Amino acid sequence: MVVGDISTGTDVLVIGAGPGGYVAAIRAGQLDLDVTLVEKDAYGGTCLNYGCIPSKAMITASDLAHEAGHAEEMGIYADPEVEMGEMVGWKDGVVDQLTGGVEKLCKANGVELMEGRAEFAGENSARVVHGGDGQGAETVEFEHAIVSTGSRPIEVPGFDFGDEPVLDSRQALALAEVPESLVIVGAGYIGMELAGVFAKLGTDVTVVEMLDSVLPAYEDDLARPVKKNAESLGVDFHFGEAASGWEEAGDGITVATEDEDGEVSEFGAEKVLVAVGRDPVTDTLELSNAGVETTDAGFIETDDRARSNVEHVFAVGDVAGEPMLAHKASKEGQVAAEVIAGEPAALDYQAVPAAVFTDPEIATVGLTEAEADEEGFEPTVGQFPFNASGRALTTGHAEGFVRVVADEPSGFLLGAQIVGPEASELIAELGFAIEMGATLEDVASTIHTHPTLSEAVMEAAENALDHAIHTLNR
Ligand SMILES: Cc1cc2nc3c(=O)[nH]c(=O)nc-3n(C[C@H](O)[C@H](O)[C@H](O)COP(=O)(O)OP(=O)(O)OC[C@H]3O[C@@H](n4cnc5c(N)ncnc54)[C@H](O)[C@@H]3O)c2cc1C
Repeated sequence: MVVGDISTGTDVLVIGAGPGGYVAAIRAGQLDLDVTLVEKDAYGGTCLNYGCIPSKAMITASDLAHEAGHAEEMGIYADPEVEMGEMVGWKDGVVDQLTGGVEKLCKANGVELMEGRAEFAGENSARVVHGGDGQGAETVEFEHAIVSTGSRPIEVPGFDFGDEPVLDSRQALALAEVPESLVIVGAGYIGMELAGVFAKLGTDVTVVEMLDSVLPAYEDDLARPVKKNAESLGVDFHFGEAASGWEEAGDGITVATEDEDGEVSEFGAEKVLVAVGRDPVTDTLELSNAGVETTDAGFIETDDRARSNVEHVFAVGDVAGEPMLAHKASKEGQVAAEVIAGEPAALDYQAVPAAVFTDPEIATVGLTEAEADEEGFEPTVGQFPFNASGRALTTGHAEGFVRVVADEPSGFLLGAQIVGPEASELIAELGFAIEMGATLEDVASTIHTHPTLSEAVMEAAENALDHAIHTLNR
């Protein structure tokens, strides 16, 4: 302890109040554990303040603006005017409502909230610095710790997020004006979601990607409609090129890229958004003081009870590895709290859904056909196109399909992939079906409401069983 430190004690110290940490803290509070949650920035973490929620708010707003201006087919003629400051203000209001709710829920569940930056001081103690200048620090003695410090965007050499025209996703979601032009480095899910937002708001968008396709983590037939639609919005793609630097040019900047043969290209823009992935935040925690090890990439490896290599230190969320998704963070947080409380909880990653909120959306859960094959199943697939769905046609969004993957001999559902309208919502039924050990027959014989997009799920299962009604069977 340094002079002026005070010392407190807690059963459970949670470091970081994102969807991993605040959920862990609330669950620990529900289980009557004495819990302290330390946050250095804002309750709700990346997800509520700078990630999932702000991006989805901006996607909704830009979709609305775009759709209102492109509904002539339905007899609607409009030319919406976008006031970016007001749009961002609305988004900030949504964020404030949610983060305020998190704070209230924590308090209502008896969670002690502590503002400051925490680092480990020993096996059972952490130092929390309030205000960041070494003054007003506090030592917290704990029985258990849960590390949930999340991730930060990776910087590409030559692109410093401190430089005004260089944006990370957080800065891009808080712009006061719609940029006239934008280069996006990276065609992963964050780059592609924001490419859609800005293209729909009228920005001239160029996407530069080192690999040879958009959304390389997803199967080709899922990513293809997203690329096609982005192109129809005017997005200009350049694959096989790595961004190498930028310089001021007139009123804007020039972004340089290099392909594998060393050929250099240049793209003019007002700003550049770098979205090439995220690194875990573990390097500022003095983990070695608690004996906690990380992988070379900085992740904390955990077992199926969210435990690190140190029995009483847990890690949840982005710091615990892929997939870096909010709902995976929250589930790990719940399990960590329950294990600490002595409950028989364990993690099960069989059916972790993932969604990309592009236009059209992509959502997946469980195994692809290729993965099922690799794992020794005898996969069978069924597919249903949205252009055969009455409801999809009535929404004006009928691109894409639902695909289910099952084990042919047993009929057990193994996975599903959806590209199309409301994919992020539709995937929930299939995740639940996998969790419940449902078969194709179970999904196919469940009566689905008509007319809804969810009928496509039933029809995909029927198609796998060779008796879909509204599409030709294989
Ligand atoms: C633009 C964008 C869009 C996204 N969209 C989605 C989406 O649609 N769906 C989805 O599932 N995921 C999405 N994500 C990912 C999601 O935000 C993360 O997976 C999720 O936030 C991880 O939660 P976490 O609790 O592990 O960490 P975080 O949410 O990052 O929270 C970590 C918290 O720890 C705090 N902290 C760090 N170090 C310390 C310290 N030493 N002391 C005290 N506090 C500390 C940080 O300030 C932060 O508040 C998106 C991310 C981005 C950037």
